Order: sequence, then C-alpha cells, then structure tokens
Amino acid sequence: MLNFPQNLAGLFIDGQWHHGPQALTVINPSNEQVLAQVDGADESAVDLAVAAAHRAFAAWSHTPSRQRAAYLRAIADGVEARRERLVQLQACNNGKPLFEAGIDVDDVIGTFNYYAGLAEQLDEQRDTPVPLPTDEFSAQVRREPCGVVGLIVPWNFPMVTTAWKLAPALAAGCCVVLKPSEVTPLAELELAAIIADCGLPPGVFNLVCGTGLAVGAPMAAHKRIAKISFTGSNAVGVQVMQRAAETVKGVSLELGGKSALLVLEDADLDLAVELASGGGYFNAGQMCSATSRVLVAQPLYDEFLQRLKARAEAIVQGDPFEPGTEMGALVNLAQFQRVLGHIDAGITAGATLVTGGARPAALPVGYFVQPTVFTDVPLDSALWNEEIFGPVLCVRAFDSDAQAIELANDSDFGLVASVVSADVQRAGEVANALQAGLVWINAPQVIFPQTAWGGYKQSSLGRELGPWGLQAFQEIKHIVRAC
Ligand code: NAD
Repeated sequence: MLNFPQNLAGLFIDGQWHHGPQALTVINPSNEQVLAQVDGADESAVDLAVAAAHRAFAAWSHTPSRQRAAYLRAIADGVEARRERLVQLQACNNGKPLFEAGIDVDDVIGTFNYYAGLAEQLDEQRDTPVPLPTDEFSAQVRREPCGVVGLIVPWNFPMVTTAWKLAPALAAGCCVVLKPSEVTPLAELELAAIIADCGLPPGVFNLVCGTGLAVGAPMAAHKRIAKISFTGSNAVGVQVMQRAAETVKGVSLELGGKSALLVLEDADLDLAVELASGGGYFNAGQMCSATSRVLVAQPLYDEFLQRLKARAEAIVQGDPFEPGTEMGALVNLAQFQRVLGHIDAGITAGATLVTGGARPAALPVGYFVQPTVFTDVPLDSALWNEEIFGPVLCVRAFDSDAQAIELANDSDFGLVASVVSADVQRAGEVANALQAGLVWINAPQVIFPQTAWGGYKQSSLGRELGPWGLQAFQEIKHIVRAC
C-alpha cells in the first residue's frame, strides 16, 4: 500500500509547489480510510496561477512546435517510468481494479505521444492558403494558440480526462491552469510532479486543487482565461457555460450520457453479454459512456437476460489490489448513496430488479454496489432517462431495427452507442442512424487518440481527441492580401 505525507501541497504555480488555505480530505473508497489531506486553493490562487500562465504565454506560444512536442514526449516517458505508482494511486483513490487503472495510464501515455506527433508538424502546417474566386487577392489561414486556458476535470477517469485536454492544449501553444476533482487529486498531483521533472518552463502548466465553488467557479468567470475545457456533470457544465458567458470565453463541455447497446437478432449472444457487461460495469459503471440502456431483439431477449444475469452475478468485486478483482467500489459515500437512491426510485417507479440492487453482503465496508440489472423500466422513469453513474443496466426488448433506433435516439443525451450483429452492413446502417458521437460495432469501448470523443445533444459541446481536440485550443486568423 502507498504511503503519503500527511499534508500534500495542492498548488503548483509558476513552477513551484505551494500550500493553500483549505484542507481537502482524500479517501480510499474501498476501505473508507483517509489517504491524505491535500491543500485546496481559493480565488486568489486562481489569480496567481492565471498571472503566471500569462507571463509564460508569450515565450511558450512562440516556442518551435517541435520543441513543445519534445516536452510532450518527455511527459509521456515520465508517465511510463512511473506507471506502477500511477496505477496504484488510481486504485487507492478511485477504487479501480489494477487492470483498469493500467488502461488509464496507458491511455495517458498514448495521448501525450499522439499530440506530440501533431505538434511536430504544427509549424509547417500553420499557414494554409485559401483558394479565392479572384486573382486580385490572396488569402491564408493561420492557426494560433487561443491563450491561457482553464481545464476542469472530474473524478471518474481523472488522469485520462486531464490528458485529453492538457496534451492538445500544450501542443497548441496554450498555457494551462488545471483543476483536478477534489475527490481524486492524487494522480494529477503525481502528474504535476512528472511535468515539473520534465523542465517545462515555469507558468506553462499550473495546477490548483480545490472545490468547484472555490476554484472551478472563479476559473469559469476569470477575465484572463480565454477558454474553459470542462468534463463533468450536466448541472455543473451549465453553470460553467453561464459564468463563461459573462466574458464571452470559449467553452468545451464533455458531459453526461445515457447510451444504448443494440443487440440485433443475428447477434452472437456471448459477445453481446460481454459487451453489455463491459459497457455497464467497467469502472463500476461510473462512465459517461456507460451503455446503460441495453436493447435486445425480442427473439434473443430471454436467453440474453439469463446469461447477463449469470455474468453480473459472477463478477468478482472487492479490493482493487487483488489480482482477481473485476469491479471496485464507487468513488465516495455521496456517489454510493446517489446510485442506491436511483435503484430505489426505479423499483418504486415499477421496474423489475433482476439482480443486484444493493451492497454485496460480503463487503460491509467500502462503497460497493452489486452489478445490477433491471427490466420493465418505464420509459418515462428517471432510471431509463437519467445518468445513474453506477453499475446499473436497464434491459428492454425490441421488435425491429427501426424500433431499436427510435428507442436509442429517444434521449436528451447522445454520447456513444454500440451495435452487435453478425451482419456488418446491417450494423453499419443502424450505426449511421444513431444520434451518437461514437458508435462501436461488435467491439468493446476501445478509444484511440486518433478518433474524436464527444457526443450529440446534451452530452457535449465540441470534441476532444484527434485533430479536433487540438483545434479546440486554437484561434483561426485569416490574412487577406491585395495582389
Ligand atoms: P462534477 O460536475 O460534479 O464535477 C466536475 C468538476 O467540476 C470537478 O472538478 C468539480 O470540482 C468542478 N466543479 C464543481 N462545481 C463547479 C462550479 N460551480 N464551477 C466550476 N467547476 C465546478 O462531475 P463529477 O461528479 O466529478 O463527474 C461525474 C460527471 O462527469 C458525470 O456526469 C459524467 O457523465 C461526467 N463525465 C463526462 C465525460 C465525457 O467525456 N463526456 C467523461 C467523464 C465524466
């Protein structure tokens, strides 16, 4: 088990560690023990961090992009060198099993290397000619970093959501103020230490731990922050957007989901059950992309349900450090109570509980909730429509592909979807009809830095990853000349 100093400095500003006025208590959700106290900041620390970022911006934004790329590669190498510790920190602080925490760290390495690759070509591709319908003028488009940016991230994939913002922001030439979740700051504090070791110029990267109200809200309103990139809940995303509107700053939002998995009538049932289980129970269901609504073709429905129930009941829950553990605890008491509240409300609304629905009897300590399956979930219930953010799957039968598509699209969200079918063309047609930013066909939720992340409707504003993730941190300037 990892040891920590009792009080961790929670502010990294202008290349220096600082203590802050508040104490954030960080717990281990698997045993409910205190892991560490981390300093939390207030508005004045946000001002200091923003000022440091502005001082660094002129030089960083003019640093040759190949040099910025070299820093990104150094960060990726630093993460790889401390992989074991980062895996353990996430297992402690999030309750993730070691294999899941390892996937997160590898994603972070891949993301920094991917954006290093884009940064290596950035200067050469900076100015692009724009064809005009006349010889009297010529035009070119130039992409420039948008300035000092604020990054606000949640607790479910703390390092991953950070990397998806931080790597493209630094690649683009922006200077950064990062606010981790107050629930899970430990991995980001380690990342900040890695970045400090890479010799990034002071002020280019600043980290300010703290609560949403003390740190996040002042960041969203800050006059000298050009853009906020936020991942979190819809309720807070709306507040961030409202505050950002006061200074007309750019906003990217990655919010919630209520994604569907569609099992067509020619699907391989074993594959369908594995994908439902993975899409619903990975990270204990605390995923914006959780495929929490499972739609199954009527002829397969009974057999599918029976196999999914058996799979859910066989999932090994417990200590994330045990090699056999497949699912860990929820992140904290509030989340544990919230998920159980949703389960109770679903039962009250008339849904049928097939399995799960409570704390496992063998795990009296820690915020564990059993893998849960519901059927007969009313279409107007919160259980069917709202993000639960826990290990809860709602299964429903459908009679035709058209009905499945209609059910899947009948949501305020549109983050991802999955389709299972033996007929690739049919699955492709269904995928084309789904209102979602990413659709997997016969595949688990694999994510590549090359493909965009983000969704339709209330799931997102903008896209992360790929070139779109980089463009989110760039301004566009056209220069038009008389010939
Ligand atoms: P949250 O919205 O409570 O908090 C997210 C971040 O915002 C935290 O750092 C928090 O401190 C900060 N914050 C809170 N109040 C704030 C305010 N008033 N102003 C500015 N910042 C504030 O979300 P959470 O509970 O940490 O994470 C779970 C949510 O994140 C879920 O809804 C999930 O769907 C979403 N999420 C989305 C994606 C995606 O890519 N779409 C990925 C991961 C998580």
